[in-house]
Amino acid sequence: MPPVVWLTGLSGSGKTTICNAVMRELKRRAVRAAFLDGDEIRKHLCPDLGYTRADRIQNVLRISYVAGLLTQQEVTVLAAAITPYEEARQRIREAHPRFIEVFVNAPIEICETRDPKGLYKKTRAGLIEHFTGISDPYEAPQSPDVECRTDHETVEESCAKVMAAILELNAKK
Ligand code: ADP
Repeated sequence: MPPVVWLTGLSGSGKTTICNAVMRELKRRAVRAAFLDGDEIRKHLCPDLGYTRADRIQNVLRISYVAGLLTQQEVTVLAAAITPYEEARQRIREAHPRFIEVFVNAPIEICETRDPKGLYKKTRAGLIEHFTGISDPYEAPQSPDVECRTDHETVEESCAKVMAAILELNAKK
């Protein structure tokens, strides 16, 4: 069964950017793959959910469920979602026989400077409550399978690390 590759990290850490790069590389190698973008899925599959601990966990468990449907059909899945709670990440790991946790790690000051979606600015202006890293917790993974330090690495380097983990897992019976 192909793996579920789960990218966790703060908003603006680089999850979507790395997924796009890895998707391009998988396509080049003719690997069937799907990208589950946490923001998009939340909008369409989880409009009933907010940002409490329970709702955030429910949100990622739904993404994980969709990921499972896809891997059963021989599709490699890349999922990008903040996934701030260790409990949720543990439950997702247990749900998938082949799982790669990627910690997309950059200091929050860097993420805030990048602010690709303008969310930090809105949070600082008091327009968003419960924002991960500022007014809501992020429990950093203690032993991720891959760590991408996007404040030091290029997108290509981060992409190469994730690709190496996928190829290594795929090589195992
Ligand atoms: P997220 O999906 O985690 O919210 P995005 O991928 O949307 O974050 O934004 C990350 C920003 O950081 C982009 O503007 C990207 O160009 C930049 N960036 C710089 N270095 C890296 C890297 N090594 N990996 C990923 N993104 C990087």
